[in-house]
Amino acid sequence: MDDCIFCKIIDGIIPSKKAYEDDQLLAFHDIAAQAPVHVLIIPKKHMESVLELSPEDDALLGHMFRVAQQLAQELNIKDDGFRLVFNTGNDGGQTVMHLHMHLMGGRAMGWPPG
Ligand code: AMP
Repeated sequence: MDDCIFCKIIDGIIPSKKAYEDDQLLAFHDIAAQAPVHVLIIPKKHMESVLELSPEDDALLGHMFRVAQQLAQELNIKDDGFRLVFNTGNDGGQTVMHLHMHLMGGRAMGWPPG
């Protein structure tokens, strides 16, 4: 999608610090990290949010979680724990309208989130 910042990252128009890539997904370090480890895992197919997921995307979603698992191991946050977040819509705090999973770790997280 032309005006989507994450589509531009996928296309290499905007640079990113990649953590993982395959034909379906890209993962890169958040530019404004809120934790020592803060990676965004995104589908290469543009969709705005979890609200656009259909049964056809079940395997893709499962794959996103498996990549999160792999990255948690590689980035050494698996044992201490981490948080996976999909901010959705205004009240959810979503600022980029391209589906993304936040993988955050390396410090203890508070609850409830702000
Ligand atoms: P959200 O607020 O859930 O929509 O998350 C969007 C995330 O994208 C925020 O944590 C931003 O810091 C991050 N972000 C925005 N632009 C970039 C960029 N060019 N490279 C890496 N992360 C970005």
